[in-house]
Order: sequence, then structure tokens, then C-alpha cells
Amino acid sequence: MDPVTEREIRASFVNGTRGDVKRLNVPVDLAERPWESLDFLGWIDPRAPLQAYVLAPVEGGLAGVQLRRNTTNAGTKRARMCSLCLTTHPGSGVSLMVAPRAGQRGRAGNTVGVDVCADLACSLYVRGRLAAPAMTAAQETLPVEDRIVRLQRNLRAFLGRVTAA
Ligand SMILES: [Zn+2]
Repeated sequence: MDPVTEREIRASFVNGTRGDVKRLNVPVDLAERPWESLDFLGWIDPRAPLQAYVLAPVEGGLAGVQLRRNTTNAGTKRARMCSLCLTTHPGSGVSLMVAPRAGQRGRAGNTVGVDVCADLACSLYVRGRLAAPAMTAAQETLPVEDRIVRLQRNLRAFLGRVTAA
């Protein structure tokens, strides 16, 4: 994806309140992110570690989604798979994150949950730039190009669930 600025980030959120967006903290390392290898920008709020954000290029611009990390399953040792990039991580490497739906449904408390890499670095796992700790699970045999397409498709499906009217 193309690099984004703080102003673009704050203008792109599709869920949550205007106050949430105003208060959120953008990544401190925006300039050093490996943009050419990113399908989406994901980050944990540097001052609110339960708050996470995903920002993805979509038709006509950018879509930002705020999520809250669910910590009730923290400490589990069981391996889990990210539902966006399908990387399997041990222990807390995959987090359940919950996003309020866009608009009225979100204000009514409606949410969408997603199991996702806790560091939100899915783009780097599918490209082999990061590796999950060795797992006994079957090794992925799909070519990188196809894994990228699959990640982008899963991401679009997730964004669609958040914004669905
Ligand atoms: Zn992932």
C-alpha cells in the first residue's frame, strides 16, 4: 500500500465515535513502516494497549477500523490460526479482536470479532518477512502471491462485515 499520513489515518475510520478517532494514537514509526510489503497498516495504540487499529486501502480511498483486544483467553497455550493470513501461532500470538460495527448498529453495541495475529503483521507473515515460532502444523505450500491474494480477500470480507448495513 502507499504510505499514509496521520491526517489520512484520522479521516478514514468507518466505526467508532468521532471522539475515539480524535483520541487514538497513531504509530510512532509511521515513516519506517515497510509500506511496499503491507496489505494493511495494523497497530496497537502505543498508549492504550487494548486498543488496536487496522487501516486498509479500499476502492475510493482508505478504510480504518478500530478494534478492542479480548484478553479473556490470554495465557492459553493452545496454538491458534489467524483468520486473515492463516498463520498459526502458539500461545498469545493470535488475539481475538472485536470491532464495533459501523454506524447505528455499532452504537447499539453490535460487534464483529476476528482472530488475528496479535502484532497485526499479517502482511509480513504471508511474504515470509516474519515467521511464527515453529509449529507442528502443516507448512503452508501455497505460493506467496496466492497467500497475498487470500489475505487481501479475507481482509475485504472482514471490512465488509464491519460496514455492512
Ligand atoms: Zn495474521
